[in-house]
Amino acid sequence: MGASQGRQRVQSAGVTWVMATAVLDFLLFYAAAYGINVFLYFATNLALVALQSRHPERRIQQGRRGETRMWREIRQSLLSLTVTAGCIAAGVFASVKGLTFVEPLPLTWWSAALMLLVSMIAFDAWFYWGHRLMHTPWLYRFHAKHHRSVAPTVWSTYSDDLVDAFVMQSYYLWAVFILPIPVEILILHRLLDHFNGTIGHSGFEFYASRLSRMPSPMVCVTFHDQHHSRFRYNYANFFSFWDRVGGTLHPEYDAEVRRFETTGRARNGGKSSES
Ligand SMILES: [Zn+2]
Ligand SMILES: [Zn+2]
Repeated sequence: MGASQGRQRVQSAGVTWVMATAVLDFLLFYAAAYGINVFLYFATNLALVALQSRHPERRIQQGRRGETRMWREIRQSLLSLTVTAGCIAAGVFASVKGLTFVEPLPLTWWSAALMLLVSMIAFDAWFYWGHRLMHTPWLYRFHAKHHRSVAPTVWSTYSDDLVDAFVMQSYYLWAVFILPIPVEILILHRLLDHFNGTIGHSGFEFYASRLSRMPSPMVCVTFHDQHHSRFRYNYANFFSFWDRVGGTLHPEYDAEVRRFETTGRARNGGKSSES
């Protein structure tokens, strides 16, 4: 064996070792992301269900019981969270390892506030247009699973087809490549989105206020609940801005929020109904 052959072997063994370490590193990120997401899914849901059970009058769709789908939705959520966790782990991994196209800003109070706002606005635009795309005849088959929950509950939040989960959650993968988001802020954004998404699917309205209707861009639970019950309205995530601009806001959204705000009850609130 010549000296150059020996060097090549040592080099290729070195490359294999570096790659194996990188893969192992990524798998650790992935396992952590999946474990934390699953833990948050159950912990948040159980806490919200306990709160909701004391306020039946606040159930938005009084005539439906989405809980009957709970076990199917839990099964599907545990599957689709494998995709979501993969996107988050890949984004965090790329950022931590310096593989992105832009350097994240150094973490300070102002950069944290600025980049959280930028990230939420960027995500909302991505979510709105991606979601509208999923409602086209070509892609709806990947989104139909999520819409089987006509009366969503906390368990419906991640009950998505895997393709659907990838389209919507890939934000966490690509955002760090083109936006200078510190990784801590990306994680904070994801936590906010988890709580926002879970509350948004909860089916019980506790948040109707002046802050969640015109002229405020914020929303309350009724917003996404109407998306599930009427299918063709309210596609955005954090804010109502894109739906107002795109003409897809449910025509009665603001009035419904105002009614909930003043009465604290759903239409026919508190009366018994069919399941
Ligand atoms: Zn939809
Ligand atoms: Zn939904």
